[in-house]
Amino acid sequence: MHSIIGRTELTDSAHGTHARIDLAAISANTSVLVSAAAGTPVMAVVKSNAYGHGLVPAARAALDGGASRLGMAQVEDALTLRQAGVEAPILAWLPWRQADYDAAVLADVELGVEAPWRLALMAEAAERNGRPVRVHLEVDTGLSRGGATRDDWPQLVEAARRAQAAGHVTVTGVFSHFACADDPGHPSVAAQIDAFDDAVRYAVTSGVEPELRHLASSAALLTVPQSHYDLVRAGLALYGLSPLESGGDFGLRPAMSLRSTVAVAKRIPAGTGVMYGLTYRVPSDSTIVVVPVGYADGLPRAAGTAGVELLVAGRRHRIAGVVGMEQTVLDVGQDLPSPGEEVVLFGPGDEGELTLTELARQLDLLPAEILARIPAALPRIYES
Ligand SMILES: *Cc1c(COP(=O)(O)O)cnc(C)c1O
Repeated sequence: MHSIIGRTELTDSAHGTHARIDLAAISANTSVLVSAAAGTPVMAVVKSNAYGHGLVPAARAALDGGASRLGMAQVEDALTLRQAGVEAPILAWLPWRQADYDAAVLADVELGVEAPWRLALMAEAAERNGRPVRVHLEVDTGLSRGGATRDDWPQLVEAARRAQAAGHVTVTGVFSHFACADDPGHPSVAAQIDAFDDAVRYAVTSGVEPELRHLASSAALLTVPQSHYDLVRAGLALYGLSPLESGGDFGLRPAMSLRSTVAVAKRIPAGTGVMYGLTYRVPSDSTIVVVPVGYADGLPRAAGTAGVELLVAGRRHRIAGVVGMEQTVLDVGQDLPSPGEEVVLFGPGDEGELTLTELARQLDLLPAEILARIPAALPRIYES
């Protein structure tokens, strides 16, 4: 008896492992956020390859949906957007490399800054290139990541005031970031708002009046209206992911689904061990399928031991044994899927597949952490 399940005509139209990106969902999610912001402009956060969705297409989709600015940590991403012809205002809030400042000035990329010495380097780049650099002063109101501490804030404001008077710097913004916005009742949220108000007041009294005060990311945008100020910065929610620990979808739709294909299908007898370590044994005579996806594609190795279920030809089946580097085996029981049939790892849930949020919960990871592990080189198929 042959145990290999084949198909005489294998359709080569099957894509290999790929992410399908629903750009219309990103635009629609942005519109939801624009409404929730009730008149406050929205900055679309597109760091880390737009949370894995593809920097340039995701940025354009968010702008189409009503975002008026773009933001990310790295200057390099900002320059990529400019090279692609994106003209919206862009802020890079962690411009840690001096070598980037000239390019940022020339490409009209706004820069976050937390210390006078760095502001001086930016001002020099502005002078060299004959045009002012637009900066957003970062104040640390309690996250203890970037930003000037309360003690250092006066010196930063004074340095900015002088550089602005000299014509090299335009202070476009003052900003900070929450530590616990995913838990809206957390006392640190109100404390950070107070600290932010103090910092802004100090700047204004010292003669530095920023056009844009900004503090809220997705969670605070959706739950803490008094944190909206002049601009809100949304990441997670743009991509249809709930920013709250407690969930709540706010009408957002997940924009990515991760898909692959059945490569091999075969029958194995009851009790046979599967994959490295033989940690899984099929409980009865079963069909197993091999899917060309693994931890090199961002599927965590632990998804196997956690018994995560993937959708094969419309039905959920568990991963058998550990996930390999480029191969994963599923126990599909008595089903007989053929090579070429579609496998959905996660998606919006329409077809019965796991959502990214559900998958992340099963693995004790953040949804964003899974997205960030999907290599930039993995093919993305864009749908609008
Ligand atoms: C990542 C980030 C955001 C976006 O946060 P979300 O929770 O994804 O909306 C906003 N601002 C800063 C400074 C960030 O680092």
